[in-house]
Amino acid sequence: MAQTFSIPLQGDTQGPAHFPSRCVCCGAPQQAESTLSLNRLVLRGQRQVQVAVKYQIPHCERCARSTKAVFLAGCIPFVVGLLLVGGVLFVAAFLGASALGLDEGVQTTTVPSLVLGAAGGLFGGFIGGLLFEVVARVLLLPFFGQALLRAPLLAAQFFSNSDYVAGVTATFTRDARHVQLTFANGAIANEFAALNGGLVAPTG
Ligand SMILES: [Zn+2]
Repeated sequence: MAQTFSIPLQGDTQGPAHFPSRCVCCGAPQQAESTLSLNRLVLRGQRQVQVAVKYQIPHCERCARSTKAVFLAGCIPFVVGLLLVGGVLFVAAFLGASALGLDEGVQTTTVPSLVLGAAGGLFGGFIGGLLFEVVARVLLLPFFGQALLRAPLLAAQFFSNSDYVAGVTATFTRDARHVQLTFANGAIANEFAALNGGLVAPTG
């Protein structure tokens, strides 16, 4: 059973949290660490501040490697899709708008067809990146198995402002006063609760 804990931030950065000294994903002895990090700009009073948390999460060698591989398996196709689809759309929208006469009679230094091209390219590129990531995930599933299925899509992480390493997902609460850690492994979650007694309250 997955369990979620809320850890209060200290100012604009992470509060203390103690992790069991074994892999948070499979429970094997700790051999490596993976970095879980989150950033967000929030309005505190009149001031816009950046809140940033970073936790070193205990992993075994295998789960640390799988965390990196899963990240690359999402990141590389996403970037390729973004550049490819975004680039093609940018050129197409730019040339199309230009040919249709969008730039005629414009006195400013901004070229409307360029702006349209950039907007179209960015939007289309994001969709393209998402599609490439989904396709890559389907193709890679036989090689990665469960590890890939459990990881949220990069685009979803982007929108929900969360970060994932094997076994743990982190996200801010709405007011960005707490960071929420979700442990997929129930036994590890219980150990984490015991290690941080009084500090964290289970939520959900
Ligand atoms: Zn492990």
